[in-house]
Amino acid sequence: KKEEFFRVEDVLKSIGGMLQSQLYSKNIAYQIRLPEKIEVKAFRNELQQVLLNIITNAIHAFDEKKVERKMICAHGWIEHGPEEQEHLILEIADNAGGVPEEIMEKIFEPYITTKEKGKGTGLGLSISRTIVQDKLKGNIVVRNENGGAVFSLNFPVSSSG
Ligand code: ADP
Ligand code: MG
Repeated sequence: KKEEFFRVEDVLKSIGGMLQSQLYSKNIAYQIRLPEKIEVKAFRNELQQVLLNIITNAIHAFDEKKVERKMICAHGWIEHGPEEQEHLILEIADNAGGVPEEIMEKIFEPYITTKEKGKGTGLGLSISRTIVQDKLKGNIVVRNENGGAVFSLNFPVSSSG
């Protein structure tokens, strides 16, 4: 498979479409915030799979939580590295309470899950990290902030096509 030239916003919008009924029924606002129309050349399908995993997790993080205004926000921008290499930074933030401290250190390892038996495999983030590292040549980290989790992706892109 080859890299494609695409608008980052289109990937986030298409995920919003796929998850529309879940977002709507759970009353979760999904917001996309990109400063300008970012277009990049990268592995689009792989990026979409990773973002779909992260956003699906965020939706489930609201289960059994009492949150006044449920939000999932996707934020992105381009950074210029030291050797002229551009990087795309994408952050998915929610306000579902954050990652439990006891799994914070090992959340990207396989079979780490807080979901009850049969509901989660604990493989989503491990597979996502492998895709980000091996295919996108970047990295993924998580932090808790403002009452929720922030998953941050960072990988090199070419934005000239
Ligand atoms: P699974 O979804 O099958 O549990 P994942 O690897 O996708 O496996 O996620 C692992 C665990 O990370 C989840 O069970 C959950 O405890 C935690 N997690 C993932 N995303 C979030 C989030 N947005 N907020 C809080 N916890 C999260
Ligand atoms: Mg998952």
